[in-house]
Amino acid sequence: MSQTELQASQIECQQEEARLAVLVEMEILDTAPESSFDAITRLAAEYFKADTVLLGFADESRFWIKSYWGEPVRELPRRHSIFERVLAENGPVVISNINDDPDFKERRIPLRRLDPLSFASAPVRSAEGKILGVLTVFSCQPRRPMVLAELRMLESLADIAASQLELRRLRKAFHRPGFCAAPIADAAAPNWPRKSDLRHALEHRQFVLYFQPEIELATRRIVGLEALIRWEHPERGLIPPMDFIPAAEETGLILPIGDWGLAEACTHIQKWRADDPERGAPRVCVNLSARQFAREGLADHVEALLSRARIPSRQLGLEMTESSLIPDPGTALEVLGSLRRLGVSLLMDDFGTGYSSLHHLHSLPFDVLKVDRSFVTRMTEGEQPLQIVRTIVELARVLGMDVVAEGIETQTQYDLLRQLGCRFGQGFLFSPPVPAATITQMLRLPGRILPKRESAEHCAMLRASAQLVPEDQPDLGMERDPS
Ligand code: C2E
Ligand code: MG
Ligand code: MG
Repeated sequence: MSQTELQASQIECQQEEARLAVLVEMEILDTAPESSFDAITRLAAEYFKADTVLLGFADESRFWIKSYWGEPVRELPRRHSIFERVLAENGPVVISNINDDPDFKERRIPLRRLDPLSFASAPVRSAEGKILGVLTVFSCQPRRPMVLAELRMLESLADIAASQLELRRLRKAFHRPGFCAAPIADAAAPNWPRKSDLRHALEHRQFVLYFQPEIELATRRIVGLEALIRWEHPERGLIPPMDFIPAAEETGLILPIGDWGLAEACTHIQKWRADDPERGAPRVCVNLSARQFAREGLADHVEALLSRARIPSRQLGLEMTESSLIPDPGTALEVLGSLRRLGVSLLMDDFGTGYSSLHHLHSLPFDVLKVDRSFVTRMTEGEQPLQIVRTIVELARVLGMDVVAEGIETQTQYDLLRQLGCRFGQGFLFSPPVPAATITQMLRLPGRILPKRESAEHCAMLRASAQLVPEDQPDLGMERDPS
């Protein structure tokens, strides 16, 4: 072996060691298949009408399948495998007819009873770009070459597997001893608010709903509103939900507070409908916490509220995060089913931050997916974060769901989201959460189209929102815009 060949082989060995180290850190080797990946293989099977789909990761000698659809394959030899081919090409591989390929026509791919005639395979990469595994769709028929959109879909699904792994790695790092978590919001008063403070606030009507418009990105038209609770504390001022919702959940007071929020939202819907009988009110979405969700008879309660306020169910949306569904996925499916039958919209909030996002997305009856603000914020940082958003938008399209991007703050984010085909969004670029009176003014705008925030019409509209916004203080009553 020449000196150069020796060096090349040493580099290859080091790269392989680094690759294996990442896989060991993610605890993905020598472990059983994981159902959290099943939605990926199932989606790929549906999209590509494949006979079998495999998602797996390779160690030195074996290729371990973490999820399969179709043929139940658990492991394959690594030598001469599709993984080796993807590694060699450093990118996706599409073989339209195995009989025309010098490698694979000699050594057929051993998939139990299936004799595949074509396949397409995309790499699953670590954050550093190392190929850890592959997602492969197989067919018993020859296939026509893939068009770009199909190839992109396959790569996107492989990227979702990669981001699930990356989240796992971050979570593990987070739980490692010595990891310094962010400081607790109100360290000076860690026990505040107590149950009695919350009860007092409820009895003295100190909670208030603010609303943030949800916009159709192409037109800036208001298509929905998100109700966001605040606590108007007589001494402490306007308190954001994250400073008291966790305590409300812990003490159980989230149930009466949540009931108040739902009823209050219905009252506002009723007023906005009366204000504009022709167009009605936009859909108002209320956030539900885990305890509210797990409560017996939620659908009956919502139905009673709607009929008392004489509101059609399509006017109400309910937002839930994955973590509120995880404790009991069986009940989740049942409760979501009954809410869906009622006709209210179901929105999955903060999508992408949960443990196995895709799994829940596919198995539960959501209508709308809200892309978490953290992805929108990082979108301009590089190709990978952008790809994640692109993937989520594409996935929602495949699943027939609407997508709302959360936390749009800049024109660049807005432009990128539109380019990616994301139809809806909300964020400080359009409007922060505002009191109901300001929304009433916004809904009277021609076509309900929100003017640009810095425009004269926008300031005029805020001034017009009655006592809330005096002439010399155009932003009073609004929350702070970071820009
Ligand atoms: P969420 O449902 O994900 O709400 C979106 C949060 O992002 C809101 O924070 C909103 O003010 C903020 N936001 C919107 N656009 C932007 C932006 O462009 N930039 C930035 N930096 N932030 C933006 P908020 O109102 O503080 O609410 C935080 C969380 O509290 C909500 O997250 C929701 O999970 C919870 N929450 C709010 N109201 C309720 C409620 O009535 N019941 C329950 N259970 N939870 C609630
Ligand atoms: Mg929400
Ligand atoms: Mg959210």
